[in-house]
Parts: sequence; structure tokens; C-alpha cells
Amino acid sequence: MTTIATQTESTPGAVDSEQRNPVFDELGFPKDPNNLYTQTVGSMLHAADMVDLQHRVKIILAQPKNEIMVHFPVRLDDGHHHLFKGYRVQHNNALGPFKGGLRFHPDVHLDDVKALALLMTMKCSLARLPLGGGKGGIKVDPHKLSPDEMERVTRRFTSAIMNDIGPDYDIPAPDVGTSAQHMAWIADTYQMSNSKSAYDGMRVVTGKPVEVGGSLGREKATGQGVADVMAEILPQIKIPIEGLRFSVLGFGNVGSWLARILQDMGATLIAVMDHSGALRCDTGIDAHALSEYSYEHYGIAGFEKSKAATDSGRGGKGADAISKEDFYSTPVDAFVPAALEQMIGPQEAEMLQCRVVAEGANAPCTPAADRVLQRRGIEVLPAILCNAGGVTVSYFEWVQNKACQIWDEETVDRELNKVMCMSARRTLLARQRYECDMRTAAYLAALEHIGKVYKTRGIFP
Ligand code: GLU
Repeated sequence: MTTIATQTESTPGAVDSEQRNPVFDELGFPKDPNNLYTQTVGSMLHAADMVDLQHRVKIILAQPKNEIMVHFPVRLDDGHHHLFKGYRVQHNNALGPFKGGLRFHPDVHLDDVKALALLMTMKCSLARLPLGGGKGGIKVDPHKLSPDEMERVTRRFTSAIMNDIGPDYDIPAPDVGTSAQHMAWIADTYQMSNSKSAYDGMRVVTGKPVEVGGSLGREKATGQGVADVMAEILPQIKIPIEGLRFSVLGFGNVGSWLARILQDMGATLIAVMDHSGALRCDTGIDAHALSEYSYEHYGIAGFEKSKAATDSGRGGKGADAISKEDFYSTPVDAFVPAALEQMIGPQEAEMLQCRVVAEGANAPCTPAADRVLQRRGIEVLPAILCNAGGVTVSYFEWVQNKACQIWDEETVDRELNKVMCMSARRTLLARQRYECDMRTAAYLAALEHIGKVYKTRGIFP
């Protein structure tokens, strides 16, 4: 049995100005320690220095290969045109085609997309998928658009980046603010414009609706993957899943699936918070009832007063609406941030009363929060390990489309579990070998693989 020490010598992927990696100056990075891209590259370089990654590979990975920014007009329902800004960042394709989601959110910025694209490269490498890393998005509040406007925005964006994506070149997928429906519009637009085979249209995106070539099990895959990693690692630190008490930040696709899956495995959802409010119930909130309610009401606010809570019969009727501070300080075994980046800073990290943080979202903890968690002996299961379930089932979808196959859900779940458990073991091994924190260990295991690929392939010319 692996033992996981909670205190380690190395500082978790920190990037304070006084610890600025020389690569930052070589590449002219801005000196803003709060910048998500600088923080993410800092964590990656911290691990790269430990594993003695060749300098040329460090500088390649510290910048994306391509940064595409487009502006495109779309007619809104009231007849006037709005100019939208969209991004596609292609970080690295040494392992395979660029791969990663498309985010529709009002706060999408280039540096955030760059950070998320780098994380995709690391995720795919840690999971040993033959895929690279990319990410994209549109600066838009999807909740302010009608379904027709949303369709026009998605199709026009697809046409703007048409020559930059492709079924063997760059394959988008859903992310925050996008769903299977968006992927169906992208597939259709791509196929109509390229008039290539139907298979190309299908394979150019993953996360499609099942009837449009999507994979069974893809919708729940990210939440399922987080649960798989928790079930693999937590019992090793004597925290069984049966009886586990957990809280979730964010109740969208990842948070709500994870909560339902963990509940079905015998765990209890004690507290939850999203953009609309926070709830706590010490006897357990019914994750299934809450998911249905949240889907219908676009948020969890008011659940405690609803018929769904009373009917759920799991103590849901006793749930209280609580403050943000009370949410963070609710005692649980595991806390799962499953919302946006940088939501857990040092203040939130000080408030947490948990033994483990399992990152369902990308980059939810800042480096300063990481240091607080480490000082307090709270184990962090990092995002590049925990939330790779989405891209893993995306890979299965792409393979099924390529081979004209349809896998049953049992096969998808089984294969996903294998990939997640292998990634968890690789991370634990790296942690033991380098005596470091879990975040650095996950990066080390990812970098070892991509470093070997660069060493063997060499660099053109
Ligand atoms: N957006 C998801 C992520 O951040 C999935 C990406 C994909 O399936 O390509 O991992």
C-alpha cells in the first residue's frame, strides 16, 4: 500500500516574484504574479527543473505554438449586429492533434485560454493519450443569448476558425458554457463548409450528442473521472469512499455529475455552492434531486424551500441556505472545487475544514492557496490528474468515429477507469520518487513522457 506523506520539502508549483523562473525573463513574460498563465507556466517549470527537462523543451512548452484571435459579427434577434471576440490557442501537438474545449464566458481572456491550453497538453501527456493540448472560447455571456443567437454565434465562430481546426489537426470539445448542442452545430458547419466526408464533420469535434456521433458516457465523464481518481487514492490515505462526507463548489456539468456518482458510491454531499447561493445539510443533500432542480432553475438557490428537497427524503428538507464563508468552513472529508479557475485563494484555503481537495475544475487553486493547503496538511489531487476524464472519453469518441464503432457505456466506463487509475498510479510513483507534492508529481509524470518524445523525435530541422 502506498503511503502519502502530507508534508513535503518542495514548494508546490509556486511562482512568486522572488522565485521567478529564469525562463520567464528569457521569454519576456509580464511580471504579474496573479496572471493565470504565469502561474500555470510557473508550476510546470517548477516540475521541469526537478526532472531536468532539456532547456529547449522548457521554452517550447512555456509558450503555445499558435494563438489565434478572431473578431466576427453576428446579427442579434433585435436586428443589430454585435462584434464578438473568439480565441483558439494551440499549445502543443508533439503527442497528437491539438485537443481541448471551447468556453463561452464573459471573462474569457487570451492568457486564461493559454493557461487552459497548456493544462490540456499536460493532462493528455499524464493520461498517455495520443493528443496534444489546445483551448478556445468566445467572450460572451451565453445566458444573455437566445437559442437562435447562440446557434448563429457558434456557427459563425466555427467558420472563422475553419482553417485552423480539423479532425486530425485540432479537435474542439465542450467546456464551461458549451454543451453537446454546440458541438453538433460545429460538426454540421464544418461538414457543410468543407463538403468532405461525413466522418470528417463528425471527427472534428468531440462531446457531440450521442445521435450525432457522440460517445455514451461522455456527458458525465469529467465527474466520473474525478470520482475514479478519488476512489483510487483516498482509501490509500485511509479515507474510504463509503461514508465520505464531501462538499462541492460549482454545480454545473462536473460538480453535479461528480456529486451524483459519489452519492451512488455511498458518499454524502454535505454542502454545495454555485453562482446562485450555498446550501448545507449535515445529514446529506440529495445530489440527484438537486441536479434536477438546478438544471431547471439555472442554479441551486431556493432548493431548500422546494418540493424537490422535501420529496428527496435524504435530509434535503433540512438543508439551510448558508453564506460563502460558512460554505468554505463546513467540515468535510473532501472538498471538490468544480467551478472556475483561481477561486481558491489563500483566504479560502485558510477557511477549508477538509482533509483532501480534489480539483474538478481547471486551476481552481492559486499558488498562494497551494502553500496554505500544504502548510495545513491538506492533500491536493491536482486538476491535470483529476479532471482528465472528459478528454479521455473525448479520445474514445474520436476513436469510435474513426473506426465506425459504437462502444456500450460499460466499456466506456471501464476504459475510463483504467486510464484514470493508471494516471493516479503514475502520479503517486512520481511523488514517492521525487518526494514532492501531488501537483508537482502530476506535472513530473506528464513531463517525463513529453520530454522523452522530444528527445526521440528531435527538433526540426
Ligand atoms: N473541456 C474539457 C477539459 O478541460 C474537455 C476537453 C476535451 O474533451 O477535449 O478537459
